[in-house]
Amino acid sequence: MDNILPAYNDPLFSILVIVILILIVAISSYVMGNIKEERKEKSLKHFLNRFSTQETFLEIEEMPFEPKLIKPLKHLAFAFKNQGEYQKAINLNLYLIDNISNFQEKKEILEQLGETYLKAGFLKRAETIFLQILHKYPRNIEALYYIGVVYEMLNEYDKALETLIPLTLLGEETNYLEAHLKLNILLNNNELNRIDKVKRLEELLENRFYDYRGIIKALFQLDVESAWRNIEVSKVERILDILWFLPLSNLNFDIILSEKILSAIFFAKGVLPLQKDNIPKSNIFVIDTIVSAKIGGSDDIDITFSYGCNRCRQHFPIPFTRCPQCYAIDAIQIKETVAKKYKEKGYSLL
Ligand SMILES: [Zn+2]
Repeated sequence: MDNILPAYNDPLFSILVIVILILIVAISSYVMGNIKEERKEKSLKHFLNRFSTQETFLEIEEMPFEPKLIKPLKHLAFAFKNQGEYQKAINLNLYLIDNISNFQEKKEILEQLGETYLKAGFLKRAETIFLQILHKYPRNIEALYYIGVVYEMLNEYDKALETLIPLTLLGEETNYLEAHLKLNILLNNNELNRIDKVKRLEELLENRFYDYRGIIKALFQLDVESAWRNIEVSKVERILDILWFLPLSNLNFDIILSEKILSAIFFAKGVLPLQKDNIPKSNIFVIDTIVSAKIGGSDDIDITFSYGCNRCRQHFPIPFTRCPQCYAIDAIQIKETVAKKYKEKGYSLL
């Protein structure tokens, strides 16, 4: 041994061997890491290529790529997404992803693509994109929120709940989101009988993180008496449309007549006869306007409802629990407007 390695007993030689070993390990992990990255990149490209052939009349594939195109094309893809031209937005994003090599730069476009897939209803594709982003950047809050929405839309609530763990660790407020998901789990639980479900819903009314409107709406579907018992006068404005469209058979006149605000709503609706010596006031502008008009002899006034989101400020003709535009929860704002009465349509929100 001494002949082969003359300095074998030399401590300096041992240190040199250790340094060489460390270098070999470092270089091989670097090379392995690069190979792994390349494979990931290839698998993402392979996945994305499967969707890039659809006709959009953009002829983007033939356009030579230049870095100065990135910004305007990103804006164009964003505009297409907002206009609902999802396939065009998808193809532009795919073109950019295909031509940009830096993952950091690509990340923003991947997020955009994932969101477009989500809006277009390609939930599994959206899941794959957000998983790719999270694989590389596990602390990406946007991607965590989006993948939670994807899982919720796929009714994979357990996976959606799992996203709350990293979000909480990253300092996000998740109590309302957790309540939203757990309420959905309860409402979709077909193994629980109606009585137990009602009991659980009534218990959840005590928890401030749970959506009052969602619980009352569910109670009206499951147990009308329980729904009426649990109506809180201070929260009536949040369920005004639900009350307004209730079928006559679902009304509890004992409770309605015991509360001024409820009496006023059903006077305005025309369900209760108007007593001029006892006119209830609701302090809801539209209701009090209709009651005053009725006293004045006008009987052809109704309410139309629209629904706004207090985060993105968009308006929708139908109610939502998650904003269809920005996916915010507990963001619904009910807008009631006086309108001319048309023939009874027998419409109910339940
Ligand atoms: Zn919104």
